Amino acid sequence: MGRARTDLGELVAIPSVADPRQYPPEECLRAANWVVDRFAEAGFTGLGLHETSDGSRAVFGVRPAADPDAPTVLLYAHYDVQPPLDEAAWHTPPFELTESGGRWYGRGAADCKGNIVMHLTALRALGDDIGVNLKLIVEGSEEQGTGGLEDFVVRNPELLRADAILVCDTGNAAVGVPAATVTLRGLANVVVSVEALAGELHSGMFGGPAPDALAALVHILATLRDADGNTTVTGLDNGQTWSGAPYPAEQFRSDAGLVEGASLLGDGTVSDMVWARPAVTVLGIDCPPVVGSAAAIQSHARARLNLRVPPGTDAVKAQDALVAHLQAAAPWGVRVTVEREALGQPFEARSGGPAYRALAAAMREAYGREMAYLGQGGSIPLCNVFAETYPEAEIVLMGVEEPLALIHAPNESVDPGEIARLAHAEALFLSGYRK
Ligand SMILES: [Zn+2]
Repeated sequence: MGRARTDLGELVAIPSVADPRQYPPEECLRAANWVVDRFAEAGFTGLGLHETSDGSRAVFGVRPAADPDAPTVLLYAHYDVQPPLDEAAWHTPPFELTESGGRWYGRGAADCKGNIVMHLTALRALGDDIGVNLKLIVEGSEEQGTGGLEDFVVRNPELLRADAILVCDTGNAAVGVPAATVTLRGLANVVVSVEALAGELHSGMFGGPAPDALAALVHILATLRDADGNTTVTGLDNGQTWSGAPYPAEQFRSDAGLVEGASLLGDGTVSDMVWARPAVTVLGIDCPPVVGSAAAIQSHARARLNLRVPPGTDAVKAQDALVAHLQAAAPWGVRVTVEREALGQPFEARSGGPAYRALAAAMREAYGREMAYLGQGGSIPLCNVFAETYPEAEIVLMGVEEPLALIHAPNESVDPGEIARLAHAEALFLSGYRK
């Protein structure tokens, strides 16, 4: 773990944000080369940088086993990070790994550099004693959502083919509670625009009879939830239940930071609501800001909506249902147009095979308790690409990004105990996994 601390410190010190408008591209190159050097020390060969369609570079390498019949495991992580965002909100320098209260703070400390260090720590624990074929892919633009690696997988299916794929970019339910994430919600975004008048009108002269585009939009958006807060899109099931580990309501309240007196939405459990059911969120509204607003009725208004699509629901059908719902909900004959944006299918891992059994045994030994099966409310499009390209592969989502890690927010951190236990579990998995 001393070495893990040193490694993570070096890697966090590289501001590898894959956006040339914010940080020089050389930083991403430095991080990629760091990954190459460290995995070369861990016995990987054929290491190199592969340019992907979005211009980022993915690190790929292999570590063959002596037994040619041994299964192949693909280890995944990403070396790019989110920008620090609100730098004033950080209590420690974002690109300097800093210990405080038993955690290590820094941008990428968990997402996903902590997982890179977890892989390295597991490999060092095993030394030369690795009975499986290993492949490594560490991408450089995951946080940008530009799909470089997704495209690379489709173009190079043989290069990355494996029996088990460890997508290490998620985390446990809580510190000390081992988990694999087995489902992800998909998404369907739309922009809904309302037109009601030729131009803005004085609210004193016209207010009353004149159709108000902003009021119409508010009315439409209000139909997307019922009084309990359930998402209510006509034709879209919202009664699904989650069959894996529960997400305790008290933990969710604290993870989400609810204000005093606020209640959780919906008539299902937290895990039903966040992993098994659809959820609609208003991402943005175009209308006059409060400061500078005039006494005027708005002629037009629009909103961008994000619909999370649970496993078992087709994202195209969900988007169709949302579009039809928004058009049908328009009051007063106002003109409503709906523009379709991003679409991503939900994901469900096949979790009954030998890789899952070996992982469950490894987690039990490393943590002294049973591995839980979690969902995740967000999407990882790469998982869908892996599942489509390698339908026989067992895909496992795991890693050091438990809820306290605050990934994507200021003051991201990692619990070094999670790196230690998960590296131990990963090493046990690589030792115990046979086809
Ligand atoms: Zn990540």
